[in-house]
Amino acid sequence: MAPKTITIIGSLNTDLVTHTPRVPIGGETLTATSFSTGSGGKGANQAVACARLSRPKPSSSQTHPTSDVVVKMVGGVGHDEFGPPLVESMKRDGIDTSGIRIVEGQTTGVAVIIVEEGSGENRILLNPGANYTLKAEDFRAPESLGTPLPDMIVMQLEIPLETVLQILDTAKKAGVDVLLNPAPAVKLPEEAYTAITHLIVNESEAAILSGRRVEEVEKEGFEWEGLASEFLRKGVQNVVVTLGAKGAYYATAAGGAGYIKAEKVEKVVDTTAAGDTFVGAYAVSIVRKSLPSGTSLSEEYKHKPLDEEVIRFACKAAARTVEKRGAQSAIPWADEIERHDA
Ligand code: ATP
Repeated sequence: MAPKTITIIGSLNTDLVTHTPRVPIGGETLTATSFSTGSGGKGANQAVACARLSRPKPSSSQTHPTSDVVVKMVGGVGHDEFGPPLVESMKRDGIDTSGIRIVEGQTTGVAVIIVEEGSGENRILLNPGANYTLKAEDFRAPESLGTPLPDMIVMQLEIPLETVLQILDTAKKAGVDVLLNPAPAVKLPEEAYTAITHLIVNESEAAILSGRRVEEVEKEGFEWEGLASEFLRKGVQNVVVTLGAKGAYYATAAGGAGYIKAEKVEKVVDTTAAGDTFVGAYAVSIVRKSLPSGTSLSEEYKHKPLDEEVIRFACKAAARTVEKRGAQSAIPWADEIERHDA
């Protein structure tokens, strides 16, 4: 059978992470406890999750592991010290990087992250750089989404909103399914929802999108059923709200719904990229269930929607990520999930 294709259109960043006992006040210089750099950006993290969760970890002699799922990244990096290494590291994970532009005169997206020890609280300053060179006009034609068209497009909101809205429109007209993980969240225009096949949000994103206060949805026992049905009424086919250590709630236009508990973890080390791992695992499960490339997938989904098995696999994968420190470096490979289950 022809492989399935997932195309991620989104951000690639370098994370510059310092750990400090406390955050410096204005005018103060403090000595950090540690500093590290890492590959990040929600787009790149989700591409890595799709790739790793659809193939076993390669041995050192095997650089491009094959799989029944082709993962392609579309994005932009700067022509600087960060950009080309980000692309190379994605290639090593088996990702098709031919859609990543190295943009002259632009810096690579950078996230400057200060982690306060003790509280574990993050403060993040993001400079989008080349991520903002993805323009809406580049995605007006159906061919801009790929030839042949992918089985699924995965997006976040770390590229210009106007570009995301254009891609939603083009994908809807071309009949391509879109998974949107609207992070960082902003209110979306109503027509955007009619083009979303899969909406995956965490609690605070769900609050922002639906015009509620974050504290309201973070309350113990909040009724996610009502909120999910608002998104379904707007035209979304499948809604998933990830609930951190509590697991996830899902609801589908076809009538399926339920709460799925989080997987047990040995020790929570760092929850960074848990959400991105969940999205990648979900996308891989869904495309594997779909019809071969080139047939009408959207129609098929209406009859064979998302089920509990997909959410369980996503929770399993995300649980392995929270057991490790870092963003991309913490995302597991498919064989790691299998070994853990055995
Ligand atoms: P992040 O921004 O940290 O990547 P997020 O806020 O987008 O994550 P969460 O809802 O916090 O998303 O987590 C995504 C999924 O990860 C959850 O649905 C759950 O399956 C898993 N997860 C997160 N935290 C834990 C935990 N402490 N124990 C087990 N699973 C967890």
